Amino acid sequence: IGPSPHVSVDGPVLIIGSTGFIGRFITDACLDSGRPTYLLIRSGLTGHFKATIINSFQEKGAIILHGSMDDRDIVEKVLRERKIEIVISAVGGKNILDQLILVQAIKAVGTIKRFLASEFGHDIDRADPVEPGMTMYNEKRKVRRAIEKSGIPYTYICCNSIAAWPYHDNTHPADVLPPLDRFHIYGDGTVKAYFVAGTDIGKYTIKSMDDIRTVNKSVHFRPPSNFLNINELASLWEQKIGRTLPRVTITEDDLLHAAREMRIPESIVASFTHDIFIKGCQINFSIEEPKDVDLSSLYPDARFMTIDECFNDFVRNLVENPKLFKQASGNNNGSIIMPPTNQEAL
Ligand code: NDP
Repeated sequence: IGPSPHVSVDGPVLIIGSTGFIGRFITDACLDSGRPTYLLIRSGLTGHFKATIINSFQEKGAIILHGSMDDRDIVEKVLRERKIEIVISAVGGKNILDQLILVQAIKAVGTIKRFLASEFGHDIDRADPVEPGMTMYNEKRKVRRAIEKSGIPYTYICCNSIAAWPYHDNTHPADVLPPLDRFHIYGDGTVKAYFVAGTDIGKYTIKSMDDIRTVNKSVHFRPPSNFLNINELASLWEQKIGRTLPRVTITEDDLLHAAREMRIPESIVASFTHDIFIKGCQINFSIEEPKDVDLSSLYPDARFMTIDECFNDFVRNLVENPKLFKQASGNNNGSIIMPPTNQEAL
């Protein structure tokens, strides 16, 4: 590793994928940090939801640029004209390989001081999910190798699981409530994982993106306060809603079967669920210098939102939007569970 490139404190950032599930947290945190923030947004169909998000970013000072990441000319022009210093990509699973063109553009421009590719999960060089998750990891690995070969300074964010109930068929579990009818417990429910609030994924991605100690490293998010197995997660949610729910075991074979069904993206999530809660992919390796760094060692005073606090937010949502209750308890086994009607559960 050569000398660490200096990123100026107000160096402009370009975010690609800002309207996505993870991208929204990152964009919010970047805007909160006060940095000049450019968002590359694909034109085409812009639904009401996407338009609302874009408006809210604009109100916070984001500068919207139209274009697609796989249009190399447009990306090069943006990088040069806006003097971008940091590029963050948070594109989804379908577009991972589009980043190969982005890497070419960043290399050609030659002035980008840090690139954060769309990672935001496990250490994909170490994790070993069954198919179809492996295909996505192989694509992410291809992007990593292209970045390393090009010599672009990079940081890989390995933030583990987003704080939410880890449904085995939902790519964006933080968008829905934890169960209100029954829990699906994977295997014996004892394998632990790290659950990080979306806001903290955003905040600590932005905090570490220009830290000289994270150049060409994987940054691992392992907050000790958010290290739970699924049995513990279920008990905590039961405390919050003030009642116990049936626990249904989903065996290793059930998860492998769901993965083999090749329903995309559900089967991809099933393969990751198997890797996390059966094989322990988040905990079966130790962090090794010089390639890895633990976020908590970089920022010993970092305070992560706890799962307890995240679950309080879900309960608050439930109290404020009883409609969510209907959705979350949709296929009940006959018993009707009422949502909490006051703040006692908090
Ligand atoms: P989403 O599918 O929610 O969003 C993807 C975003 O990328 C959208 O804004 C989309 O814009 C944009 N995009 C896609 N292709 C292009 C392109 N060619 N040019 C410009 N913009 C583009 O993604 P996710 O948030 O689900 O995934 C992001 C990353 O986070 C992935 O690496 C994923 O594996 C990871 N992840 C991690 C989770 C965890 O628990 N740790 C959970 C979920 C994801 P448009 O609106 O135009 O389509």
